Amino acid sequence: MQTLDNEIAEKILSKKIEKAEAMRIFDGLSESDKLELISKIKSKLMDTSGGATSSKRLKPLDQRDLEDSHRSFIEKLTESYEKFVYKSKQNIPKNHYHFVDQRRNFHLIKELKQMHFQVTYEKADGAYIHDIDGNKYIDISGDMGVNIFGHKPTFMVDAVKAALDRGIPLTGYSETIHNVTKLISELTGHDRVLFTQSGTEAVVVATRMARAATNRKKIVLFDGAYHGLSDVVMVMRGMQGESLAAGPGMLQEFADQIIVLKYGDKESLDIIEAQADEIAGVLVEPVQSRHIYNKPVKFLNELRNLTIEKDIPLIFDEMITGFRVTPKGAQGVFNITPDISTYGKIPGGGLPTGLVAGSKKYMDLIDGGTWEFEDDSMPKSKRVGMGGTHSQNPLKIAASYATMSEIKRRMEVSKNCNYFSNDCECLYCKLNIKTMRMVEELNQFFIENNLPITIDIFGSLFRFRFVDSYWGITEALMFLLMRMNGVETNIQGNCFLTTAHNQEDIRNIIDAVKKSLKTLIKENFFYEAKIEPQIESVPVAMPKPVVKTAPKNEVNIGNSQLQQLKDLLLRDLKKISQ
Ligand code: PMP
Repeated sequence: MQTLDNEIAEKILSKKIEKAEAMRIFDGLSESDKLELISKIKSKLMDTSGGATSSKRLKPLDQRDLEDSHRSFIEKLTESYEKFVYKSKQNIPKNHYHFVDQRRNFHLIKELKQMHFQVTYEKADGAYIHDIDGNKYIDISGDMGVNIFGHKPTFMVDAVKAALDRGIPLTGYSETIHNVTKLISELTGHDRVLFTQSGTEAVVVATRMARAATNRKKIVLFDGAYHGLSDVVMVMRGMQGESLAAGPGMLQEFADQIIVLKYGDKESLDIIEAQADEIAGVLVEPVQSRHIYNKPVKFLNELRNLTIEKDIPLIFDEMITGFRVTPKGAQGVFNITPDISTYGKIPGGGLPTGLVAGSKKYMDLIDGGTWEFEDDSMPKSKRVGMGGTHSQNPLKIAASYATMSEIKRRMEVSKNCNYFSNDCECLYCKLNIKTMRMVEELNQFFIENNLPITIDIFGSLFRFRFVDSYWGITEALMFLLMRMNGVETNIQGNCFLTTAHNQEDIRNIIDAVKKSLKTLIKENFFYEAKIEPQIESVPVAMPKPVVKTAPKNEVNIGNSQLQQLKDLLLRDLKKISQ
């Protein structure tokens, strides 16, 4: 018989387990373990609560619970939505055969299929996006984290136009690339800087450097992080803590070289310590953009100390947080310096790029280290493979220099700020505080209305989180309504403010969120959980029966109660694993 361990509850809640598999495990548990598991799930859901207190908190309706009134609301909404983005919708059947896009089916819910399509944009400027139907939206998608100064800021457009006028030679150097690498070093505090074509590539190169530096194989990364598309790091943690290739076409042989540990967990440090001789590098997304609420600073400090002690290169993947929260990213907030950092998004100034920056010791592995003309010096370090036709494309180098220069310029007014000061005029203080105020007001609204929603925040990165469900119909409708109320988000979930958003935009965002949710409340897409009181009475720690056949010691639950509990578990699983 399957025994219950903490991991099962963890796996179910972190959606790393198929519903059928969860039910198979559930069925294999003893009755007492079944109860314990349900209790664990219940308390875990409560733990992660934001917004309203758990006893009062409403639940979002799931697509399986739709009644006629909800269906009729969805029908009417579909009609108005189709008018609202008429041309965008027409574009889909005309073009989706030729245009392949994996994101097309992301979070697709059958009941909302008629409204599930990407809008065709016409143009973007400042804080706004315009679509081909003439709608203007306040854009909080932040271009997946790329955009910090709003769309087409003049300094960027001028820089890219000027670069275009100079032609776009791909070999040889330019003054701009010399200037920008120096500037990035100055802003991040890292010795040397490498441009790559994408964030994915930056991570691949960083792990290769770590392996080359240590002559070891294994890379540690953490559950819940994303490090780009490559097979080298697209690895999941399995039920027993094993590493699994993340999907079809990815080889288990790659996954076998990865150790996926729990993020922020002391036990993970013990594992790293125990296996240090095999570990080439530890790759961390210090604040995982999908789990912004988790900021394990103490863990990160201990990890830094441990990796120094064991001479394991520590890599921070700051693709989203880099130049977003502070110029250095999360490392600037936590005051922790990794050996290697990967950046991307913002430093590309809207054009595709990745960056690897780090200490000379590791960065020299790319070009062998510097040597002088005057003496007989030669590259000292061994070199890892690195290339990339467009790594130093002059258009993106120009955009990068313009962005980095603007960041520097807007930091010059800073007065010993900590990036979150009310009275500092620097770029980050203003942007971070502006976002914090907006989020505070919205979180307050969720609490006042007992809504099961909270917004997690890190600097100007924020994310709506439905606390005890995962992407059900109510959440999907909220984002659709927000679009109809003039706010554009990104289906992938991360939202951002930029310097282009003014107070009026922020007021409009707040109003759009409130209005969208009020509609959903009115249409009964949130309900009071009826089943909760029964579960409250379920004992948490059940004594284990000594002899299986001794009915007096057995935890006796009747069939109907067990069925009820099973239904509840299944119901939660359905919501969680959508
Ligand atoms: N690392 C992190 C933390 C990311 O968020 C991403 C992309 N969102 C990547 C790596 C990969 O970057 P890219 O999409 O530019 O390849």
